[in-house]
Amino acid sequence: MVKIERSYPAPESLASEALKRNGSYEKSDVTDRLKRDFHDKCYICELKGLQDPEVEHLLPHKNRTYPERVFDWDNLFWCCGHCNKVKNSGKYDAGIIDCCKQDPEQLLRFTLQDNDISVETIYPENEQALLTANLIYETFNLKNTGIREAACENRIQSLQVARNVLYRELEKYKEKPNSARNRRMVQSLLRRDSAFAAFKRGYVRERLDEFPELETCIC
Ligand SMILES: [Zn+2]
Repeated sequence: MVKIERSYPAPESLASEALKRNGSYEKSDVTDRLKRDFHDKCYICELKGLQDPEVEHLLPHKNRTYPERVFDWDNLFWCCGHCNKVKNSGKYDAGIIDCCKQDPEQLLRFTLQDNDISVETIYPENEQALLTANLIYETFNLKNTGIREAACENRIQSLQVARNVLYRELEKYKEKPNSARNRRMVQSLLRRDSAFAAFKRGYVRERLDEFPELETCIC
């Protein structure tokens, strides 16, 4: 999860759909904008190029029990179906970090391990950060159904591919740091719009003694 710059004003259909009895919060102006603002990535697991995107409500509307949440542009997020369902368990209803308002990388430490991930809170007393760390971990590890096992495996494998590309490009960069091509490649892999950016940026953040000049790419 990385900081997202949400664009304004809100898509026009939200105001008119809110006046209808069963209005839709998924008109194409909303989905097009969310896809663009969120860089075509699930804001929770950071899988890019979603085949099953969904419009997710940061604060759940519980079958429109909270109608004010349904069409609120600030409450709509771009999410994969897997993460949407994991988040929908009830235990995250108190609220996770709003990555459009707060920078998750300042609250959470994202670590890549050999075949797993870890997400830790930098401020354990921050309940939102704690919930968010747990949610992100679950989207890679909650394998309580066959479908979820496959979804988690898919995310871990995609993350490993992205990680290996980063390792390879960092090696090239270390060998020839003055190569414009090498620097450009590493920079693009560390941009917030890239897949699994929080984990890749976290990896470099822990190795700034080795790559001090890359600090500007991850702040
Ligand atoms: Zn996801």
